Amino acid sequence: MPLKKRHHDFGWLLIVCAGLLPLVLGILCTAIEARHTVHQQQISTANTLLTQAEKMSDNAWDMITELRQYHYQPCAQIEDQLQRAGTLNPYFRSIGMLKGGDISCSSAFGLKHGTLTEMMLQPPPTTGKAWWSISVRGTYGVQNRPAVVFVRQLPDTSGFWAVIDGQYLMDFMNAIGGSRGYQMSLQFSGGAVIASGQNDMRPKLYMKSEAFQADSSRYPITVSVTVPASELLKAWRQALFIFLPMAAIFSILLMILTANWLRRRISWHDEIGRAIRARQFSVHYQPVYSNTLHACAGAEALLRWQRPNGDMIRPDIFISAAEAEGMIVPLTQHLLELMAEDIQDWQVEPGFHIGLNLAAEHLQHADFVTDIELFAERIKDKQMCITLELTERSLIEDGEMVARKLRHLRAQGMKVAIDDFGTGHCSLTYLLTFPLDYLKIDRGFINAIEGLDVETPVLDAIINLCHKLELDVLGEGVETATQFEYLRQRGVIFIQGYYYARPLDNDRLRAWLSEQGHKPLLVEEHHEPELHHS
Ligand code: C2E
Ligand code: CA
Ligand code: CA
Repeated sequence: MPLKKRHHDFGWLLIVCAGLLPLVLGILCTAIEARHTVHQQQISTANTLLTQAEKMSDNAWDMITELRQYHYQPCAQIEDQLQRAGTLNPYFRSIGMLKGGDISCSSAFGLKHGTLTEMMLQPPPTTGKAWWSISVRGTYGVQNRPAVVFVRQLPDTSGFWAVIDGQYLMDFMNAIGGSRGYQMSLQFSGGAVIASGQNDMRPKLYMKSEAFQADSSRYPITVSVTVPASELLKAWRQALFIFLPMAAIFSILLMILTANWLRRRISWHDEIGRAIRARQFSVHYQPVYSNTLHACAGAEALLRWQRPNGDMIRPDIFISAAEAEGMIVPLTQHLLELMAEDIQDWQVEPGFHIGLNLAAEHLQHADFVTDIELFAERIKDKQMCITLELTERSLIEDGEMVARKLRHLRAQGMKVAIDDFGTGHCSLTYLLTFPLDYLKIDRGFINAIEGLDVETPVLDAIINLCHKLELDVLGEGVETATQFEYLRQRGVIFIQGYYYARPLDNDRLRAWLSEQGHKPLLVEEHHEPELHHS
């Protein structure tokens, strides 16, 4: 009971995990998606801001180019025009001309001008360039509001300048990101920072905000955009809102699927165990014909499972279920038990072959050799030849150990056959190194036979290979006289299939053996489709 309980708890855990999986994955994916979305917004906001700053710079330099027309004219004469140009054009705080380090004319200060350093409240940068621009925290006239100063110097120490009011840029920043709490800043030539937005950037685990920086390719402008964590959370919430109902459906589906799978899994395992105890399994035997004895040379044991309601479960289904659920070993032990009981009543010649199918897992099991030896011991007085039918897969898995066990059993007179030959992935070297006696050609190859005179290249190659390796060949699933005759002509000794006999239950087999077992198989000519044509 405790084992069963553990099974149950484990099942519940699996169902819960299956239910949580889509939710956890969804939460993770939406978080990544939200980050991505917000980052894209950050990039596009930074680019918009950069474009606007470049446009203002274009304006400033255009203005400076226009100012060149006033070169060599005295300030008093051009002051009016300067004032008009400075006020009528947007963005400008003031414009003017330079003489050395002094301002020789200005749209804002009338005749009392001072130096460039006084005007921009800091010394001009030493760039060595004729054109430069820099952001400053204020100017002489407006000391507490940032601005951008543009200067064009001529070789004769004169020059022109324009100051753009930082307020325009700050307003623009507020317009594009203020409502979402973006924090933005902008610098010209690494000068004073022109910034907007609140400074509430408390990092929150994954949702921490990172600054995104972009540089202009045309001007020395750097912009930086920081998105608050609250924006990330908002984007995440939105993604979750769309995703969660879907995830919930997936969760439920996955839980139902897991529960179903578990129920089937547990039930196959329990069901086979119960069927063994209730003796629902029986063995059918399919006779094998020998072309040298011209009589029945043996039989293959095939398991049958009949439910109490009369339904038969197909062997390929319950055998693979038993293999998958770890029940193949007890099932094969049960088979040996049933066979030993059946064989007690058989009247057969010494050397009669009894074939039984073995699964790869059983061959690797510690009890394998003892199981077979015990069976051999129980049917010893019949002097039969036990043939172990293995698939190609069982040779490949843990080959060396399997080969040792087979050698041990062969030394006691048992034979080893490869079943369904040609359907697995066995390399020819295995055939050479393994202790083998027979090869059973899969019925797929037998089906390919079209007529006595039509070549069947793959089948012919397999038969030739067996002759070379000195292995006896058995053709499986032989259903027609043509197939039988084709194989006989090519030296295939053993024949198994509906053409000779179907699998029979124990009682029918005994009757069949005494009536037909000794008779040769005569090819009935009217079975030959070719004969009708000629
Ligand atoms: P297998 O070992 O290749 O067995 C031969 C299968 O071919 C049997 O199917 C048999 O009834 C069928 N057969 C025989 N002659 C003909 C024929 O002329 N035409 C056609 N169409 N079929 C023919 P069955 O009994 O349904 O078994 C299917 C498979 O289940 C077996 O293939 C074997 O791999 C597995 N199996 C059956 N009993 C056991 C068992 O006791 N232990 C293990 N490990 N596997 C078993
Ligand atoms: Ca077989
Ligand atoms: Ca087979």
